[in-house]
Amino acid sequence: MLNNTQNTTTRGRFAPSPTGKMHLGNVFCALISWLSVKKENGKWILRIEDLDPERSKTEYTKLIEDDLNWLGLTWDEGGASSPIGEYKPYLQSERNNIYKYFLNVLNNKSVLYNCYCTRNDRLASSAPHNNKTAEIQPNNCKCRTLTNEQIKKYNNNRSPALKCYAKEIENYYIDKHYGKIFAKNNSDNDFIIQRRDGNFAYQLAVVVDDGTMNITQVVRGNDLMPSTLQQLLLYKLLSLQAPQFYHIPLICAPDGRRLCKRNKDLEIQHLRKYHTPQQIIGTLAYYANLIDKPYSITPNELIQLFDWQKIPHNNILINNKIL
Ligand code: GLU
Repeated sequence: MLNNTQNTTTRGRFAPSPTGKMHLGNVFCALISWLSVKKENGKWILRIEDLDPERSKTEYTKLIEDDLNWLGLTWDEGGASSPIGEYKPYLQSERNNIYKYFLNVLNNKSVLYNCYCTRNDRLASSAPHNNKTAEIQPNNCKCRTLTNEQIKKYNNNRSPALKCYAKEIENYYIDKHYGKIFAKNNSDNDFIIQRRDGNFAYQLAVVVDDGTMNITQVVRGNDLMPSTLQQLLLYKLLSLQAPQFYHIPLICAPDGRRLCKRNKDLEIQHLRKYHTPQQIIGTLAYYANLIDKPYSITPNELIQLFDWQKIPHNNILINNKIL
């Protein structure tokens, strides 16, 4: 009986990593995801992806929650300070036992192998947003084909990361916003599941969390599109139900680069000094083509105007003067 009630409700999530303050780009993603879910009377879940112990900070988690509340992007489930919902915990740092269980499932399927490459292991806890992290699995990793003797030799010197052999990866998937997305040719699709220091990697955690939290739609920046095929492979290997993937354009600084920590003046904490939440939401709604000029509006008022058909596909170059 339980199964009949599952997945009848749309469940979307916002899954920020508390490694810095939120900027307009993060909130653009939060807003579109929130509207897409609310349009279908669904539930919006806030999950904190504090997987990387070196980069995640509780103070950023607090600021994220505070900014979202201030903007009117309230969550129905999840959160860190007083989590609500039946899929607790909603902080990745508290979900290690769940990841261990699913790691074991992969292990039993014999798709894991030891990787002794050190260069990119540290980056594996973060979503691969930029070229540096996207190149996380360089084609020159030969660890899958090491002989037993070589493995023994390496094991004496360092502990390995665990990598997933992506033999059964599909070569395309259907994105709900961008359509048919093909895998890059000739790329090595194997990816890290657990780092050498024992920390779990983003790819495993995000799939386990979305799968076990019954998320039905994932809305996120198009820079994560290349990860989707790897994640779909994990859904299959772990026998979890995959959500629908909607990728959205990125908000880019005038230099064309994705907004990041360097764009201090586009951080919400900064913008809050000069603008109302409705002005910020209005500007983002304008970028999303939901309104024809930037005017003050609340997320609630936008629900009826929301339509995936209106959302642009090209990245949006921000014009500082608009706000
Ligand atoms: N925690 C990831 C990030 O902040 C989210 C990745 C995802 O939405 O899949 O980039």
